[in-house]
Order: sequence, then C-alpha cells, then structure tokens
Amino acid sequence: MQKVLQRLLELQNVDLRLNDVRARLARFPKKVAEVDARVTAAKADVDATKASQLAAVKDRKKYELDVEQWKERVRKYKDQTSQIKTNEAYRALQHEIQLAEDEIAKAEDRLLEQMVAGEEYDRRIKAAEKSLKEVETVAGAERSRIEAEKAKAEKELAQLNSERAAAIAEIPENLLDHYDRIVRKHNGVALAEVRDEKCGACGMIVRPHVIQEMRRAANDELFHCETCTRILYYIESSAAVTPAAASATASSNSEI
Ligand SMILES: [Zn+2]
Repeated sequence: MQKVLQRLLELQNVDLRLNDVRARLARFPKKVAEVDARVTAAKADVDATKASQLAAVKDRKKYELDVEQWKERVRKYKDQTSQIKTNEAYRALQHEIQLAEDEIAKAEDRLLEQMVAGEEYDRRIKAAEKSLKEVETVAGAERSRIEAEKAKAEKELAQLNSERAAAIAEIPENLLDHYDRIVRKHNGVALAEVRDEKCGACGMIVRPHVIQEMRRAANDELFHCETCTRILYYIESSAAVTPAAASATASSNSEI
C-alpha cells in the first residue's frame, strides 16, 4: 500500500477512536443529571410527606379548638339553666345543649382520625427518609463510577490527541484538508477498503480497471469511490501486508 494511504489510514483509526471517546464524554453530563434527578425526587418525596404531616397537625389543632369551643358553649347553656322560667325555654336550651354535644362528638371523631393519620405520617416520613438515604448511597457510588470513567476517557482523549498530532505531522496539508472534507461529509469515515471489488463503505462496485490502477499507483495518487467519494484503499491478500496496515484495517473495520 502507498505510504500516504497508510498514514491516512492511521489517521482515520485515531479519528474513529477520538469520535468514540468524545461521544462517551458527551454522555457524562446526562448520566450525572439522571443520578441527581433520582436524589432530587427522593428529597421531594420526604418534603411532600413532611408537608402533609404539617397540614394534618394544623387540622388537628383546629379540631381540638372546635372541641374546646363547643364544650365552652355547653357550659354556658348549663349555667343558663338555673335562670330558665318556662318549660318551653328549658326544652329549647336542652335541645341546644344536645346539638352542641353532637358537635363535640363529631369534632372528637375527626380528632381521633387525625391522630391515627398522624402515626401513619410518622411511618411514611421514616420510610421516605430511609429511601432517600439508600438513593443517596447508590448515587454516591454512581457519581464516583462516572467520575472514574470520565477521568479515564479524558486521559484517552489526551492520548489520542497526541497520537493525532503525530499522525498529521506526516501528511501533507492539502491532503489533510481533503481528508477533513470527506470526514465531515461522511460522519468521520473518509477511507474505504476495496473488498470483493466493492467500496467497503457504501457497497458500490469499484470497476476492475480502477483496482488495477490502484495497484500500480504512485505514492501521491489517490482513488475515490465514484458513488460516496471516499478515498479507496486496497489491501493485497498476500503476506505482503505490513503488520501496521493490517492492524489499522482490523481496528478501523471493527469501529465502522
Ligand atoms: Zn463508496
């Protein structure tokens, strides 16, 4: 294979790995946000349960006050009994007392319900707080794992950036521009291997005379797929394949 093609293949190999690392890095903020969202939801659950309990306590105080007010009324009515002159007035007052005592009974029922509910709120708050603690523990472990993965990916990125700098140092500038244009057009893959007389990227036929010319090509001569315009390369199926070219092809194939 021409040296220039080998260098472009090495560059493509680095670029594909760079794309992969950049894509992984781009996913980290979302992963962290998902972990944070789970903690936020668990906290909101605790807050909402506590707010319900607070509302229940307020209700309970109101019912307690109701009981007190009705009892006070009953006391007043009973005080008035001694001053009553007629049977009619007495019956009317007894009726008022009965009504007030009914109200006391109702308010006491509501109070009892609220006290039972209060115990239920205590139980729910404890459960929500326990669940929050568990979510926070898991989140802490996940954040550490994500941070470690991110640090690893950043290290890979730095390593690949220096590999790329070394790779492009060997490639003439106009050829590099040409490569970059095709990369942008084709989602990062500018080179395609000719396999079974077809373009390895788009699958279209590469005419036999083109393949013959490729075999005889001078170092600076490039051939392109007529359909997708990618730069074509051809690996002789003999022992003449250099280890570098073979490994570059193997890894680029696995990532396409
Ligand atoms: Zn093609």
